[in-house]
Amino acid sequence: MNLNIGINLNETITDAVVDQLIECDPSLAERSREDIPRTCTANRILAAIGALTSLPVFLKIKDFVDRNLLEESDPSMLNRGMFVPLYRDTEQIYIAVANPWDPTGEDTFSQQFPDLEVTKILAPVAEISQVIETVSRTTGPSQSELDAIEVENSDDEITDFNVTEKHAEPLAQLVAKIVSDGVKDRASDIHIKCDKDRVHYSYRIDGDMGEKYEIPIKLKDRIDAFLLNLMGLPPEERAKRPGISGRFTVNYLRRSIDMRFERHRTYRGYHVTMRILDKSHFEAKLGVGSLAFDSATLFELEKVMAIPAGIIVMSGPTGSGKSTTLNAMLRELNRPEDIILTLENPVEDEIQGVLHCDIKPNEFNPMIASFMRSDPDIILMGEVRDLDSAELAIEAAITGHKVLTTIHCPRASQIIERFEQLGIERWKVAQTLKAACAQRLIKLLCPYCKIKKTGLTEREIRKFNLDDEWRDTPIYQRNNDGCGECGGRGYLGRSALLEIIPITPEWSDQLSKGVISPYELELAVRKEGILPSLRKSGLQIVKEGRSDLEALRKIIDMSATE
Ligand SMILES: [Zn+2]
Repeated sequence: MNLNIGINLNETITDAVVDQLIECDPSLAERSREDIPRTCTANRILAAIGALTSLPVFLKIKDFVDRNLLEESDPSMLNRGMFVPLYRDTEQIYIAVANPWDPTGEDTFSQQFPDLEVTKILAPVAEISQVIETVSRTTGPSQSELDAIEVENSDDEITDFNVTEKHAEPLAQLVAKIVSDGVKDRASDIHIKCDKDRVHYSYRIDGDMGEKYEIPIKLKDRIDAFLLNLMGLPPEERAKRPGISGRFTVNYLRRSIDMRFERHRTYRGYHVTMRILDKSHFEAKLGVGSLAFDSATLFELEKVMAIPAGIIVMSGPTGSGKSTTLNAMLRELNRPEDIILTLENPVEDEIQGVLHCDIKPNEFNPMIASFMRSDPDIILMGEVRDLDSAELAIEAAITGHKVLTTIHCPRASQIIERFEQLGIERWKVAQTLKAACAQRLIKLLCPYCKIKKTGLTEREIRKFNLDDEWRDTPIYQRNNDGCGECGGRGYLGRSALLEIIPITPEWSDQLSKGVISPYELELAVRKEGILPSLRKSGLQIVKEGRSDLEALRKIIDMSATE
């Protein structure tokens, strides 16, 4: 029996924990013992362990950590025993442990501080692992950290590879480093490309491709074969297919991270793209982090989300974070009384309680009836990309469902035209579309090295089409040399800009009668000046000193005025 909370406990202890769970909640006794850990949340199991060992439980520890104490500790040791030091006074040292029966933490600190008493508190593995990650980030990958990366063995073939080909180990190490560096630097993708006489890999971070790292050309085929093997594919596959897609899981500091793999044949060999689907980035919430919209935008978004039925479409280019925002909206809408169904290809962000379906484009049409019979209240469609998916969205909205989806087009007002191009009549779109949104991600200045700039030149004012008030507005710009915190990039992280055009009954009527065009609607909305627009939100972020005009110019056309 496994408790599934990220620590290994022997059978006797596991049994005692289950007994404790039953004692806290006698209704559990009706279930089979194997079933009990599965029906309890990790926090509840942790609470049971706390009761069993008479240790206090802290669900959040990040704010209690003594940074100095933490930085003096060896991250690989912390990782091995899953513990972190919290606080020290003249008599005691407090440490957070995930497994109270593992003596590593206690031993480490009683050796280091023989005069102090070590006091343990319990904390979730995920919390402790995130704290450890903050120290290992600044020191670069240690050997033991790279060793911590294990590839999840999901079938026999992979186990065979590890056992029989011992000589392949340095290669496994190299792949582990490529992946762990990417996760550590919060890269979204890892690219491996073949040139005539070398292979190189690089990362996409905050939307930009970074430095290229070289790998000897002799490893070209072995890396390729190793990666295919991670997905249980024999190397012969690469000769058969021009493109290969797949998925595998890696373990990074005990966190499992899904990797989406795409490989296509090129003239010189291959080009591999690995998308890092790191859950800790996904669990984005509206109003915080990269989705920290201003209050006016959040207000409009909440209004849009409250519509009882109809389509909410998010537009924008690839990599503009459309699905992250939709998933964050879905999290807000996720209530036990509603059935939420998602149709995605592939599923990227699993939300508890939501029915996720991985569906290929050609499966759409035959499955529409079956989806509708499953009686969902809210449907999230990954993308409207052809007539089948467009028809499903319209049909679902007409029959009273709330539909969230994305579409490929630059402006919010072009959403209606895009539906028309796919073969849907305008009146149908006008009557079902409730909100047309557009999103971009703007790079944020590194707060550690950004440069203050007083006022703009006449030329800049004209170039960016700004008001006179900008002449004396103090703003910041990027430090081209960057610093250690931003890895020399001058930018650190990104934030989403959102434009929302709600289609009111009045607009809907005028659009379906053809009295106004979608673009005229956009102009009318902009003239009112109340709703959030990409340009307005972008300039606001620049004014707040969080980004610069160069970054804004790269994502929206600044030659157009408000
Ligand atoms: Zn910096």
